[in-house]
Amino acid sequence: MTTPLQSHGTTATIAIENPATGRVIGHIEDMTADHVAELVVRARAAQPAWAEIGFDRRAELVRKLRSWFVANRASLIDTIVAENGKTREDALLAELFYLADSMGFWAKNAGKYLAEDKIRTHSPFVLGKKVVVRYRPHGVVGVIAPWNYPLTASVGDALPALMAGNTVVLKPSEVAPLAVEQVVRGAIEVGFPIGVLQVATGAGDTGAALVDCADMIQFTGSTRTGRRIAARCGERLIPSSLELGGKDPMIVLADANVERAANVAVEWSIRNAGQICMGIERVYVEAPVYDEFVSKVTEKVSRLRIGAPGDFGSTDVGAITFAPQLDIIESHIGDATAKGARVLVGGKREPGAGRFFQPTVLVDVNHTMKVMQEETFGPILPIMKVRDDEEAVRLANDTPYGLGSTIFSRNIAQAHRLARRMVAGNTWINDAIMSFLAQEAPFAGAGQSGFGSGRHGKDGIRKYCDTQTILTTRFALTREPTMFPNNARRSRRFDRLMMMLWGR
Ligand code: NAD
Repeated sequence: MTTPLQSHGTTATIAIENPATGRVIGHIEDMTADHVAELVVRARAAQPAWAEIGFDRRAELVRKLRSWFVANRASLIDTIVAENGKTREDALLAELFYLADSMGFWAKNAGKYLAEDKIRTHSPFVLGKKVVVRYRPHGVVGVIAPWNYPLTASVGDALPALMAGNTVVLKPSEVAPLAVEQVVRGAIEVGFPIGVLQVATGAGDTGAALVDCADMIQFTGSTRTGRRIAARCGERLIPSSLELGGKDPMIVLADANVERAANVAVEWSIRNAGQICMGIERVYVEAPVYDEFVSKVTEKVSRLRIGAPGDFGSTDVGAITFAPQLDIIESHIGDATAKGARVLVGGKREPGAGRFFQPTVLVDVNHTMKVMQEETFGPILPIMKVRDDEEAVRLANDTPYGLGSTIFSRNIAQAHRLARRMVAGNTWINDAIMSFLAQEAPFAGAGQSGFGSGRHGKDGIRKYCDTQTILTTRFALTREPTMFPNNARRSRRFDRLMMMLWGR
């Protein structure tokens, strides 16, 4: 948790706490708007040369950063675990492994995705002229990040922005900023030029100051903050891309492999103590397999070990990173039980120094309850019995969010038909989340889960660029037929041509 600001001369700082132990593990500067503006000035000065060195040289530096990253993995994992409270496994797989892979992905593909497009146009007026579209970096990209994946949701977005030729000012969450600071130091160590990748530490006002002076904003965080950022970017008329909250549903049909469905449900509702934007937050199970599914899930959840993360394998469920999140989780469970839900396992905070919440299975839930409507962001799995697939799809879509969705069925054709009716940026059949690793495909949210073209794939890097269409005329009449002066005979000919082409 962040604690109140302390004054060190004129510089205010924020204390960073280990949520698993309650101990303060470091401090960051709470940067003022002036300080952020200075970083952006430096980033703007560094940007033209960074764009000029080209894709190959940038890729070389990103690969060097990957080598540094892999060599320093143990210490990076230590930092993530200490500031976020997640298990070592979560830090290794979802942050280090993903990012090392992502560095290679963008180093290899950025040049291909941003190569100039030669356009073959259909228009008779442009015949003989050459049209190309080029992608030009916006300039300084501000990347504003949340606490639940301190590196993946920050450095992960900085990589394509940098590879496109932008410079980046990264604003990590004030709750978990230390690993980002470490990576930015690593980038300088491997030779990133001064001003290319910088960190702006601080709370919400520091983020707001970045929105006030960057050329584009990439934001990952809550829908509430995303809305404010989009409004400010709208006022400034700068582009923004927003990755926001979720309330992802899972549907289990009667013909599903129930054992696998139960494993996937437990994995992706409880992993990272449920603090995953695309985690499973509610399940709809067809009546014939409901009892079997509930009993398998309950048995698996009750076997999970909870506690302060130590070495690999020491625990399954880590801490709740952000203190106010515990109150939200409790209020959702309290609201549900007051309206008739039953807790089959868990349901309570763990006593002790750190912040932990027991992995919880809830049944007899319905859509009047917050736990089925609002993002809980905790290790909670509410399960609802449904009559048939129609009811399941209707309830799954009964949300303003639309990040991910999961369908379990052995009938793949039927699952595909349902998938096409899910209002979500991502749908997984007999699986969850895994398309995030297919970085060639877009990962974006629908509805209130996102705005812009999302991460990954060609749109995930083109969003960091303006397009510039360049038309070249080499050989042409000195005066073309459509040029001044206007001429009645010629205009009537165009009029007849239009009738011939589209008038019947
Ligand atoms: P948050 O919105 O509270 O904060 C996110 C960041 O915004 C922080 O760095 C914060 O300091 C900054 N900020 C706060 N107010 C600001 C303002 N007015 N202007 C600019 N910046 C401001 O979110 P959080 O609690 O850190 O993160 C959890 C949320 O993030 C959840 O809703 C989760 O679903 C979402 N999330 C989404 C994705 C995705 O890919 N869609 C990934 C991870 C997390």
